[in-house]
Amino acid sequence: MYITNMTHVLDDEGNITTKGTKAGRLFASFLAMVIDSITQEYSEENPVIRCYKKNCSGFITTYRSLPDDDILWYCSECNVEGVISHWRETKWNNKENEVLENFEIDQQVVAWMKRLESELTFPFTVKPQPFIKNDFPDESDMVITRIHHFVDDYGLIVELQQVDQTHYLPLCNLEIADRASDNTKLINEFLSWWYSTEDREL
Ligand SMILES: [Zn+2]
Repeated sequence: MYITNMTHVLDDEGNITTKGTKAGRLFASFLAMVIDSITQEYSEENPVIRCYKKNCSGFITTYRSLPDDDILWYCSECNVEGVISHWRETKWNNKENEVLENFEIDQQVVAWMKRLESELTFPFTVKPQPFIKNDFPDESDMVITRIHHFVDDYGLIVELQQVDQTHYLPLCNLEIADRASDNTKLINEFLSWWYSTEDREL
């Protein structure tokens, strides 16, 4: 996992610093492309970003994570991944993207995260939704232990324990075992709010 504060790889003019190693500069240029890409309005024609690793032909997937407002990136081919912070003040941030500029929604998400953390009773048992069941052949109990973070597209990511394994999964891929519990009520309230923000299909 590479964790980069973008301001640390820039010079006083906001360009990628010429100090340091060539590999370091190439990596910084790659991160600049990631910022440029995630901050563009979504279009099928948006250029794809290739993994920066030599000998890897994978493509990079990006998400924005709340409450920290970081950019997460990863390559599904070689599994290299990283986090970029302090990207908003860089020149690669295309500021016209409505989704990323909607601070009001961000604040509501953060408020929801706090509310879920404090009002849900942890841990609680869940099972995978039918469409991801094949990925979890082990049928032992899965319990949600905490809210982890929030990403655009997948929504709330929770931390789960299954025997001695830890998983991170979108809450919307899970079903709460006890349908009549207060946890279920609160989560359903959250999910209907979340779906309503992005015209999602239930
Ligand atoms: Zn790769």
